[in-house]
Amino acid sequence: MYILLMGPPGAGKGTQAAQLVEKFNIPHISTGDMFRAAVKEGTELGQQAKACMDAGQLVPDSVTIGIVKERLAKQDCKKGFILDGFPRTVEQANALTSTLTELSIKLDRVININVPAEDLVSRIVGRRICKACGATFHTVFNPSSLEGKCDKCKGELYQRADDREDTVRNRLSVYEAQTQPLIKYYEQNGLYTEIDGRQEIHKVLDDILESLKGRSL
Ligand code: ADP
Ligand code: AMP
Repeated sequence: MYILLMGPPGAGKGTQAAQLVEKFNIPHISTGDMFRAAVKEGTELGQQAKACMDAGQLVPDSVTIGIVKERLAKQDCKKGFILDGFPRTVEQANALTSTLTELSIKLDRVININVPAEDLVSRIVGRRICKACGATFHTVFNPSSLEGKCDKCKGELYQRADDREDTVRNRLSVYEAQTQPLIKYYEQNGLYTEIDGRQEIHKVLDDILESLKGRSL
């Protein structure tokens, strides 16, 4: 099952992807997670990405396209994947189309989780992530049972540096200017579905699973 998850920052892509991974046993490929891992490891890629991420800007296409191409060619993508956070520009979308053709991969669904702009700031500012296992919570909408601790592994929860309000506003304008126009690109290919991301987390998942019915596994 090859799924492209789209939607603005804070729409719930990572939250849904975690559940789809369990259901379909396919990798979750998030460019944001890849960049954060590189920053943590202190690699050259991480150093390049950090300045852009801290400013709420996109990492240059030349860098981003390269790491995605490499990742999609790995063995674990042969059964499928959930691609999240890529593409974010027209150049990335074109690169993805040609990479998938080279790898003889056909997307099964392009799912856009739609959440209005006015809800996104509170979603992002309240996001908390487990340092140990990466699980995502929200201080109000999806709180962990013990404050500051992960429900799954008891790891410590933290707030991403780019989830503070001033950076969030930059990220949302970058999304509107550079990524939202891609919806038109994918609307035309017949694989596109829009999901109402304002619903509760389990309802969003139900709608996603419904949209995947009848697709190859
Ligand atoms: P994205 O990966 O699209 O940036 P996340 O999955 O990290 O978004 O979700 C952003 C924040 O919103 C998280 O704190 C998450 O717990 C919360 N969240 C996700 N889905 C919902 C939902 N349907 N309703 C309310 N809050 C949600
Ligand atoms: P995310 O985790 O998807 O919210 O991404 C966090 C940050 O990583 C973004 O604000 C960008 O700086 C960077 N990033 C993630 N994916 C991409 C991408 N496809 N192209 C450029 N930058 C990206």
